[in-house]
Amino acid sequence: MTTKGRDDTSGRHDTSGRYDLAVVGAGPGGYVAAIRAAQLGKRVAVIERDRPGGVCLNWGCIPSKALLTGAELVENLRSHGDSFGVEAGGLRLDYGKAIDHSRRTSDRLCKGVQSLLKKNRIELIQGSGRLAGPNAVAVTGATERLVEAERVLLAAGSTEFVPPGVTVDGERVFTSREILESKTIPERLLVIGAGAVGLEFAYVYAMYGSRVTVIEMLDQVIPGADPEVAAVVQREFRRKGIEIRLGTRFEEMKVSNGSVRVSVSRTKEGEAGEELEANQVLVAIGRRALSADLGLEEAGVTIDARGFVSVDDRLTTNVPSVSAIGDLVGGPLLAHKASEEGVAAVELMFGHERPPLDHRKIPACIYTQPQVAWIGLTEAEARAAHGDDLRVGKFPFTASGKALAAAHSAGFVKILAEPRYGEIVGAHVVGYGATELIAEIGLAMTLEATTAEIAATSHAHPTLAEAILEASLAAEGRSINF
Ligand SMILES: Cc1cc2nc3c(=O)[nH]c(=O)nc-3n(C[C@H](O)[C@H](O)[C@H](O)COP(=O)(O)OP(=O)(O)OC[C@H]3O[C@@H](n4cnc5c(N)ncnc54)[C@H](O)[C@@H]3O)c2cc1C
Repeated sequence: MTTKGRDDTSGRHDTSGRYDLAVVGAGPGGYVAAIRAAQLGKRVAVIERDRPGGVCLNWGCIPSKALLTGAELVENLRSHGDSFGVEAGGLRLDYGKAIDHSRRTSDRLCKGVQSLLKKNRIELIQGSGRLAGPNAVAVTGATERLVEAERVLLAAGSTEFVPPGVTVDGERVFTSREILESKTIPERLLVIGAGAVGLEFAYVYAMYGSRVTVIEMLDQVIPGADPEVAAVVQREFRRKGIEIRLGTRFEEMKVSNGSVRVSVSRTKEGEAGEELEANQVLVAIGRRALSADLGLEEAGVTIDARGFVSVDDRLTTNVPSVSAIGDLVGGPLLAHKASEEGVAAVELMFGHERPPLDHRKIPACIYTQPQVAWIGLTEAEARAAHGDDLRVGKFPFTASGKALAAAHSAGFVKILAEPRYGEIVGAHVVGYGATELIAEIGLAMTLEATTAEIAATSHAHPTLAEAILEASLAAEGRSINF
């Protein structure tokens, strides 16, 4: 077998013989795993049926963040311009241009992934991959071929979950996939689901002029987030004119010429259901694994009740030569989680021993305004683990000079530390810049740092990061600025 490492400069792409690794899916899980395997000197093929970059680069993280940047700009001009002497009364918005920018950004990054694969001498095979035994992937579609490999890594990702009876037409009824190409802003948008995706589009559309209503079956927005954080987001969204209806369950929808009528019921007993009307509806109630067409059953790979591929802590399936990562295996459906699993899976399968990935140290972020970011345990989990002596340090952005200067003072930083040494076990941030701030806590948790160590670290003034310092001081019982 030829094994080509990164030092091989022949420039040839050998299209025959057995590979060390065949990766199905070139999303942030698959392409990153492939590059890591190439760095370890392995001969790698990646099978992708669509564009490299997966949902993240093409239909998720990146295009949505491009649109969110536009929405933030609009909000800054409209709501905060006056404080800075900027009169935004005659603002003219062309959302189509924001979509163009978002698509261009995706295209550019997609090409970037293609060149990264090439640079690392990874063969990109265009087509659909399906397991054809423990060491082979049958490719159909644009390429017809059997790819044989010592190891197979499944990284096929996930797709939008659409409830039975709902027809997504890309005109009146959307998932996140179609809405990313829709250039018109309707008068009224109804969003079903107040998770990250639902809230991010609710924010974008509201800033570009839609009257937005979000319905959520559970009793808080961002189910799973710290309830205090969720309460701030809910309050700030309502201040922006976004209507949020909690405890409201989607039942069915009817599409007629100019509108969509959505029947909802209330989860509290005794409260009557009703019919809501909107010009467009975004269905954002979660995602399901793309495990159905991977030949798993024939290959004997087990999946769980929800269709996610089951893996152990080395990310190996019950078939020892087949591993799986990313959205396909469930857990938080996040791009960086997929990438980190990709690296871990490859290192572990090729004998590069390392500890398994610690999923508690993976941050989750939402890019609305205010932004949301968290890592580690929730306060309830930390209290259950460490009792009432848990150290909780909180600092509100109303006391942050930088946040006030930027006219973004909603929210807070909350740091949780175990009582014995003050080691950080979790953090929850809501407010301006939250998604950047969380990285400091991630590093602190990797280093098993304590709040005293963060407190001993010089933080430049004025920065939003001082809120992390101040929350750490608060956890130590020695707040200065609050
Ligand atoms: C609107 C939206 C916004 C998001 N924003 C964020 C964010 O801000 N931050 C974040 O961390 N995450 C975000 N996510 C989630 C993130 O996109 C996913 O967690 C991430 O893309 C998962 O990576 P993956 O590699 O597991 O799968 P994917 O990105 O889904 O990639 C899987 C790839 O496999 C290919 N494939 C599938 N089946 C086959 C087959 N049989 N043969 C060949 N190829 C196949 C697919 O075409 C795809 O390219 C967002 C998601 C959405 C929908």
